[in-house]
Amino acid sequence: MSKPLIQTLALSLALGVPAAVLGILVSPVIGLSVFCAVLALQLIGFLRNFSRLEAWTRNPLPETTPEGGGIWDEVFSRLHRHEKELRVAIARRDFDLQQVAAAGQAMVDGIVTLDADSRISWCNRVAEQQLGLDLRSDRFQPIANLVRQPAFINYLATGDFSKPLRLSSMRGDERVLSLFVLPYSGQERLLQIQDVTQSERLDQTRRDFVANVSHELRTPLTILSGFLETVRELELDPVDQEHYFDLMAEQSVRMSRIVQDLLALSTLESAPPPSGGERVHMTPLLEKLHRDAQALSAGRHSISLEMDTGDLFGAESELASAFGNLISNAVRYTPPGGEIVIAWKRQGSSAEFSVTDNGIGIDAKHIPRLTERFYRADTGRSRETGGTGLGLAIVKHALSRHQARLEITSTPGEGSRFSTVFPPTRVAA
Ligand code: ADP
Repeated sequence: MSKPLIQTLALSLALGVPAAVLGILVSPVIGLSVFCAVLALQLIGFLRNFSRLEAWTRNPLPETTPEGGGIWDEVFSRLHRHEKELRVAIARRDFDLQQVAAAGQAMVDGIVTLDADSRISWCNRVAEQQLGLDLRSDRFQPIANLVRQPAFINYLATGDFSKPLRLSSMRGDERVLSLFVLPYSGQERLLQIQDVTQSERLDQTRRDFVANVSHELRTPLTILSGFLETVRELELDPVDQEHYFDLMAEQSVRMSRIVQDLLALSTLESAPPPSGGERVHMTPLLEKLHRDAQALSAGRHSISLEMDTGDLFGAESELASAFGNLISNAVRYTPPGGEIVIAWKRQGSSAEFSVTDNGIGIDAKHIPRLTERFYRADTGRSRETGGTGLGLAIVKHALSRHQARLEITSTPGEGSRFSTVFPPTRVAA
């Protein structure tokens, strides 16, 4: 029995003593009446405290805990303490939950938690976007009712989550998602959704690239081995033999050009970006490129050079390769008698390099893809003129390393203009 209870009982008994004395000395009726009156007073006190307690339990705030005497004081102060501790514990738990939710929202991947019946308990905003969910309305809904792709429904149903599931995005775009299911805390499951569009695209590009390189090298190799066979097996006169050797040399030059361009591309991709420090003197560079163009054209075109003053900061070899590719394309895709203008112009604090020709031109549908490796608008002419299909890919890389962009305008049958504007940070006065 607790101490306050003993004290309360002792007080009741102590109050009974005078009543008993009165009962013995005066009259038993008076003694009993006094005892009943004392008990009634105690009962009223109890009822008053009880009603305070009852009123408080309707909104049990620690700061409004009632006060009372005797045993009630002990009861109220314990309730006060308990309520305070409870509130601290709830606040701490709420804080922890908020932290966990905030961490879930901060994740790059989509996260969905599922209960034992695969109903959505929670998901972050990334998952809402990836799966087209809305947590406010979809909470506690079975996920299979919302993500209705058969592959996903089967995956959930089989319960074999050893491998992730590849899924296309629910938003009707071309995103590719990879889903992992991780069981936790008994029957609950966590769905982790990664957007693998980028790596999927890279894989595809890599596969296409390997297939293209193999194809590009196989063709001259097949021709070369065919000629070798011919030279070895047939008794050819020296003139024919010479002719076959020339054809073989042509194919080996073609292969070595492809390998050279591939190496140039891979160097551009792996080398650190050119520093802004090296000054590239444009006048001698452009004059050399002009002479090279005239040598390549061998008098078949009229090639002019228009130059403003001003140099560039960057890697000379990369810029020479980019400009040289644009110029040699103009020569190769412009029929004899055509005109080519190489221009270097200041545009305020920026500067533009351009090559304009009145050659065969390019159909608009090809233009967005011209800088892809091995993409050709005119395959026959490209091969005939010794093209590798890699020139504009090299140009694009080299220019982007100098913060410049390639712009192409062209009209079939009328000619093309390839231009690139260098930002003020790359231009030297
Ligand atoms: P290629 O080695 O085949 O010339 P490029 O990457 O340099 O490869 O160019 C890609 C394609 O763009 C070419 O195959 C050609 O069809 C087209 N092209 C490039 N420059 C010109 C131009 N000045 N005029 C017409 N077509 C061009």
